[in-house]
Amino acid sequence: MTLKRLLCVTFAALAAVPVAAFALVKPLRVVAPTLVPGILCIKDTLCTDDAANFDAARTLYREGYAMARNAVGPFRDTPRVVFCSTTACAQAFGIGGQAAQTVGDFGVIVAPRGWKPFYLAHELIHYRQAEVLGNLAVATRPRWLIEGMAYSLSGDPRHPLTEPFEQWRAQFDAWHASIGAQNIWAAARNVR
Ligand SMILES: [Zn+2]
Repeated sequence: MTLKRLLCVTFAALAAVPVAAFALVKPLRVVAPTLVPGILCIKDTLCTDDAANFDAARTLYREGYAMARNAVGPFRDTPRVVFCSTTACAQAFGIGGQAAQTVGDFGVIVAPRGWKPFYLAHELIHYRQAEVLGNLAVATRPRWLIEGMAYSLSGDPRHPLTEPFEQWRAQFDAWHASIGAQNIWAAARNVR
């Protein structure tokens, strides 16, 4: 194999990795939503599958963002959110029956039933967790910390939540009260 050929094969293999991930791990499509047929982005961080819904999406983004920011501090980057108004769109991003899903600090996908400020705030709290603690930590730290924080600080109106979420929220609330004036992220870093 010539060097040139070797380089061509290597580059082809490297290029194939993100393409394969994009095709197989559907939520990762939030990284480049406009590659999904029918998705329009009014700006890099605000996308939807129906241009008629841009105003509603923008309002929802502002409300959810303000709630999350007030709860867990300012974001480092502006989170990208894809608002799906159809199930087909949610399926294209592979989020199943969920109301919404956050993909680390890559972005957030909102399904039709997730168009509510507290749902968006919940997901943006996960986004902030990924920014501060890292994507690995969001996947591996105790669920009462990661999910409990999102359910509690998003002001989720459901009381009680279905288990185990109610228990996780209660455990987070007890921990949150116990840290007093300590910074929430400094304290969260010590939770294993
Ligand atoms: Zn969650």
